[in-house]
Amino acid sequence: MAIMITDECISCNACEAECPNTAIYSPGMAYNLGGQEYAALNEEHTYIVPDKCTECVGYYDEPQCIPSCPTEAIIADPEHVETREQLIAKKEQLDLVGR
Ligand code: SF4
Ligand code: SF4
Repeated sequence: MAIMITDECISCNACEAECPNTAIYSPGMAYNLGGQEYAALNEEHTYIVPDKCTECVGYYDEPQCIPSCPTEAIIADPEHVETREQLIAKKEQLDLVGR
């Protein structure tokens, strides 16, 4: 399951530095994936790119962003349920194409 940020976010940016996949971006900021730039996924608050979030699989035992959030705005995304095998495959793909 990928991790998402809810409307409880106050865009303090504390979580951004915690992400080993550079999957977290400030509101309105374009994101990068595989050498390409894409339009921001959220204009209102900090956001996570689902295609870049591996729940920290491949780096850590637990998602690193969740405990960094002062407003508990970071949660598991019920719309993006993924198995550990899928998350490992995503991590390997990111290793290949670049984050
Ligand atoms: S769970 Fe890990 S990979 Fe996903 S956004 Fe948070 S820090 Fe990044
Ligand atoms: S740490 Fe929480 S409040 Fe701060 S930017 Fe991240 S999700 Fe938003």
